[in-house]
Amino acid sequence: MGDSSQRFIADHVVSLPRSGIRDFFAIVAAMPQAISLGIGEPDFVTPWHIREAAIFALEKGKTSYTDNMGLIRLRREINTYVEQNFGLSYNPDNEILVAVGVSEALDIALRAVLNPGDKVLYHEPCYVSYSPSIVLAHAQPIAIGTSAEDQFGINPEAVEAAWEPGCKVLMLNFPTNPTGGVTERAKLERIAKFAVEKDLLVISDEIYSELTFEGEHTSIATLPGMQERTIFLHGFSKAFAMTGFRIGYACGPASLIEAMMKVHQYSMLCAPILSQEAAIEALKNGGPSVAKMKAQYHRRRDLIVRRFNESGLTCHLPKGSFYAFPSIQSTGLSSMEFCQGLLQTEEVAIVPGTAFGPSGAGFARASFSTSYERIIEATDRIERYADSVRK
Ligand code: PLP
Repeated sequence: MGDSSQRFIADHVVSLPRSGIRDFFAIVAAMPQAISLGIGEPDFVTPWHIREAAIFALEKGKTSYTDNMGLIRLRREINTYVEQNFGLSYNPDNEILVAVGVSEALDIALRAVLNPGDKVLYHEPCYVSYSPSIVLAHAQPIAIGTSAEDQFGINPEAVEAAWEPGCKVLMLNFPTNPTGGVTERAKLERIAKFAVEKDLLVISDEIYSELTFEGEHTSIATLPGMQERTIFLHGFSKAFAMTGFRIGYACGPASLIEAMMKVHQYSMLCAPILSQEAAIEALKNGGPSVAKMKAQYHRRRDLIVRRFNESGLTCHLPKGSFYAFPSIQSTGLSSMEFCQGLLQTEEVAIVPGTAFGPSGAGFARASFSTSYERIIEATDRIERYADSVRK
């Protein structure tokens, strides 16, 4: 079919860059024998008791829409979970919205609060959808660079320097995809003070928080003056290994949740009922399963970071998430050259750091959501490739 329909596409969508890793992963998909450390999802299947809850709900004929906000039983469980794990309390009636993953929660949060031309601060390297989601909400993304020297945490000075008139929202994601970076409490406190001073709304994506290996995870929403200006986003995809269920949630002040609910109601209507039933089981009884998976990630993290450093690919210790973000600068190659060469020569897939923004140049993301044995094999091959390039 001839296609002359380009002229119908909205300007802001035309100008969205094509994802830098699409072509790369098209090659990976055609190499089933390759070891992939490229994926951003758990290698574990959803724990059986959670799957069983979905099956049981289906058997019982639970096939309807739910309340737009989500099942009230689920919202109550979310409140209990968030109270116990983050020290935050929300009213299940009007301060919690169940969404189709953190992806949808993030999209509707941005669309609910941004006017055309508003500016949004976010730290980079970051999850690939942040900047496009801001653009799709007709707003302007402003990146704040983070660096390996700071272990990819965010510096309050950098936030202050990046701020300009028109900034309305600050987006945070700790632990961070793709770096595993976290920001210690003292720095978060300074950022919180700045947010109050500049009247910023904070959207905090804490999807990897259960997978924090060092220290305590602190939500910025718990800091003085912050709960009333923070939309807290969380979900089930990572810690509970539930990516395919497509379920997450947003907690925040009632007026913001109501605004998000309007966008959600007219676009998504509600999250799937079977996933909501599974999520209730995950929150009630999923703790031991999460702990077991976390122990595996922890062991694999220590292995992969050690092996990268032994190979001359300097790698900071990711304090959370299931990603390592080694520097490939000692090889003299660009991120893309290194990853393409590695794939072609040694059949190992890792993601060029530039896929996560310009400040990812010189780095690559290697996910340790694959078995210990495969990580041993993959890192041996990566070492061999890096050595061969340096010669
Ligand atoms: N936020 C971050 C930081 C992510 O890394 C991801 C997925 O990789 C998401 C959100 C999407 O999560 P969900 O599956 O809940 O839509």
